[in-house]
Amino acid sequence: MYVYADNAATTPVHAKAAEAMLACLKEEYGNPSSLHTVGQRAKELLDRARADMAACLGAEAREIYFTGGGSEADNQALLTGAMLGAKKGKKHLITTAFEHHAVLHAMKRLEKLGFTVTYLDVHEDGVVRPEDVAAALTEDTALVSVMLVNNEIGTLQPVAEIAKLCHEKGVLVHTDAVQAVGHIPVDVKALDVDMLSLSGHKFHAPKGVGALYCRKGLRPEILIEGGAQEFGRRGGTENLPGIVAMAAALKETTENLAREMDQVTALREKLIAGLETIPHSRLNGSRTLRCPGTVNFCFEGIEGESLLLLLDAKGVAASSGSACTSGSLDPSHVLLALGLPHEIAHGSLRLSLTADNTEAEVDHILAVVPEVVSYLRSISPVWEALETGKQPHLI
Ligand SMILES: *Cc1c(COP(=O)(O)O)cnc(C)c1O
Repeated sequence: MYVYADNAATTPVHAKAAEAMLACLKEEYGNPSSLHTVGQRAKELLDRARADMAACLGAEAREIYFTGGGSEADNQALLTGAMLGAKKGKKHLITTAFEHHAVLHAMKRLEKLGFTVTYLDVHEDGVVRPEDVAAALTEDTALVSVMLVNNEIGTLQPVAEIAKLCHEKGVLVHTDAVQAVGHIPVDVKALDVDMLSLSGHKFHAPKGVGALYCRKGLRPEILIEGGAQEFGRRGGTENLPGIVAMAAALKETTENLAREMDQVTALREKLIAGLETIPHSRLNGSRTLRCPGTVNFCFEGIEGESLLLLLDAKGVAASSGSACTSGSLDPSHVLLALGLPHEIAHGSLRLSLTADNTEAEVDHILAVVPEVVSYLRSISPVWEALETGKQPHLI
């Protein structure tokens, strides 16, 4: 058995999304900007995809701007908030210490351009406190960006509450909802955010396509100059096959959301209960405030990389945090933001499930992980030091 449990890194493409994409590739090769019939048919598909996406998110079609993925949407949102603020002389931005690097690195860039950024603590449970946001707001604050679901530990953030208190002070709010859309209900009006990022490949659409929701009345900054596509806010011929597939995937996941959330939550609970029985292990992030599918554990005395390689050999595809940091030896910035010491943050395991996973697969994971953890501890000098009392156990 081989279990794919790395859905927070990317998800398999849904059959309906692939079907929609293939039909578009084969038959609708037109350029939506062309005036002839072939072009206008493509334009109709584009408009329909935009309307379908908007309907799933409680937005208006005019408020959906297609992008080349979640990272681009994040960059566009932050630049938009920063530039709108700068026009009013406001140059302070607020985010959290455990955002995705698309947000953190875009913030670093804005710091170089003269903006000041506050990185909020996320506490040990991996949840931002609205009162911390309130305390960080100043007269100079232009934008607050807080993710809806953290990609490494799966914790939910109180974005609606944060948006409410920011709007009372006239501050714009963006949320990176890349791990939320298609996994929990996301309604832009209920959240009352000004901007929201999403990415197709995190909910069973292909890679390289995403969207920015930008509330009516706000104009997104242009990242890519060119033609008049995306209401003049993003130049370049649209990725129509990707867009059509993304809309199909979102419709599909939205229709089945309630049932799939229950199903995935039950699998996750079984997974947590099983992994908790491993001695000197800890679940990272709040037990209750979490999205259905994501679980992140630390196991003392072992190193994440070797754990992943052995799990792969035994038929479990997992991750040690984000796909972006798992290639490096640095501990995850997310786990460090929770206040975990470096030696613990190195031994983390993220398992992320969707409704494609089965109970038999969870059983397989629960058979394999304890075995691999025991083996790695048996050959670990760090574990020996812990067991012989030379070093104190931290978990
Ligand atoms: C994956 C991810 C992104 C980046 O999306 P891409 O489409 O891969 O660029 C941004 N934010 C979060 C929270 C993510 O999980």
